[in-house]
Amino acid sequence: VTLPRGFKAQAERDAADLRKQLGKPEHARVDVGELADILGVTVISAETLVERSRLEELEALQKFSFSAATFKVAERDIIVTNPLRGDARRASDVAHELAHILLKHELSEVRRIDDYAFRTCRPDQEEQATAMGGTLMLPRPLLLRAARGGLGPDEIAEANGVTPDMARYRYNTTGVSRQTARK
Ligand SMILES: [Zn+2]
Repeated sequence: VTLPRGFKAQAERDAADLRKQLGKPEHARVDVGELADILGVTVISAETLVERSRLEELEALQKFSFSAATFKVAERDIIVTNPLRGDARRASDVAHELAHILLKHELSEVRRIDDYAFRTCRPDQEEQATAMGGTLMLPRPLLLRAARGGLGPDEIAEANGVTPDMARYRYNTTGVSRQTARK
């Protein structure tokens, strides 16, 4: 699966535009909560809906089966997160879900594990949400500035409260590493 033509550039523009709406420069760190607010999305922990023990059972059944999911309730988008994840994992998951919402993806597929139903997207939309989510949290100007300051992917992840996976993906796919190495 490959991203549609022009997708990456549009994602960068969206990341810049959202920062502008927050009154921040293009290279600024943002928290997913701020992005959710500006997009009119509510983020809640699954713990407010079901008992934590149920979430732990599910986790025991299949590790990482539930990270975050988006539901539409009375025309409002609600992202439900898994409280068993660490802060960085949760931030990356929420960014991924916000990307689905921004991209107006239909959350239609239902997957079932035991008693639990999950809605998942088409593989091409999953790839788009991952690319867009990463761009929202780590847009190119932010990465360039960090890389020029000598930061590697793990340090960038730490400084921005996202997973090393997301930082590595962005660091490698944007060509920021090569660009800074040449200078
Ligand atoms: Zn997804």
